[in-house]
Amino acid sequence: MPAPGELTFVSPRGAKKPPRHLADLTPAERREAVAGLGEKPFRAKQLSQHYFARYADDPAAWTDIPAAARERLASALLPELMSVVRHVSCDDDTTCKTLWRLFDGTLVESVLMRYPDRVTMCISSQAGCGMNCPFCATGQAGLTRNLSTAEIVHQIVAGMRSLRDGEVPGGPARLSNIVFMGMGEPLANYNRVVGSIRRLTDPEPEGLGLSQRGITVSTVGLVPAMLRFADEGFKCRLAVSLHAPDDELRDTLVPVNTRWRVREVLDAAWHYADVSGRRVSVEYALIKDINDQAWRADLLGRLLRGRRVHVNLIPLNPTPGSKWTASRPQDEQRFVEVLESHGVPVTVRDTRGQEIEGACGQLAAAER
Ligand code: SAH
Repeated sequence: MPAPGELTFVSPRGAKKPPRHLADLTPAERREAVAGLGEKPFRAKQLSQHYFARYADDPAAWTDIPAAARERLASALLPELMSVVRHVSCDDDTTCKTLWRLFDGTLVESVLMRYPDRVTMCISSQAGCGMNCPFCATGQAGLTRNLSTAEIVHQIVAGMRSLRDGEVPGGPARLSNIVFMGMGEPLANYNRVVGSIRRLTDPEPEGLGLSQRGITVSTVGLVPAMLRFADEGFKCRLAVSLHAPDDELRDTLVPVNTRWRVREVLDAAWHYADVSGRRVSVEYALIKDINDQAWRADLLGRLLRGRRVHVNLIPLNPTPGSKWTASRPQDEQRFVEVLESHGVPVTVRDTRGQEIEGACGQLAAAER
């Protein structure tokens, strides 16, 4: 069954699909695929062990599989999905952005951010985005296509491998958090995103063994998909990109608001919070003189008070040629105070990676 939202964003007719990969498949499908190649079904588990537990996609390292079978299994189930166009880093190399080229030349990006107490990766779920938010660099170029489950998962596998191998300064480390805040609207690529969450969180060797609690899925507010996501029973965090408390302004900042209003989006968010037991994160990019007035902070506070919520204020990262910029410090401060006066927990997000165009589709945009 197509997911809500998915029908509207089909790839162009005749476009080639990404190659099938182990990470697209459930464990049962992997056994079937291996058997279909004339191999013993237990090879599926060996391949999973190599890919999800050792991040080893080079068949030369699969010494428990006969050499004659390795190439056949590799080309059928572990094709190369993407190659690095470039890495760009800052913050003494603890923030590293990777620009990837996919099999059809499409570009996407992921960012790895190492903090003293955790490592977060920001990944893409689509190439481009169809949501058309005017302040977002990805939104300007429109949607190219959905990423496959494996194309989503592989961004993480590559990051975990470089962390394990000590390629990120600070010594070998484990990944602690994943945010679906790179390119794309994750809930518009519903089935593949949900599949990727299963691959990321299934225990090794079926999956990468990461914690659902460490995953944040960020959405513009596709209400039917939010409700369906609640039914999956995940313990992931949901982030809602609100950016305005009133429909009049939100219609211009997040165009899909003309379909699902602020009230409906928040009701779906509270439903998710109830079902998952997790606080919802409300994302709010502060844009100077657009959405940063004290009266809007007050209206937002009234909508959110008493709810299971946390507000993340993001100083706007201006996109090239944009007429908008981040709020004045005093307006940001007042916005925080007004929300706090309603008892709403709020933090101002650290804006790592701005100097490497690490926010919101800018590196891929520069490449085009
Ligand atoms: N499509 C999803 C996830 C991708 S964007 C969503 O909209 O939630 C992740 C977050 O970055 C969103 O809250 C988005 O609104 C915000 N964002 C996009 N462009 C930005 C910019 N130029 N400055 C600050 N935040 C931005």
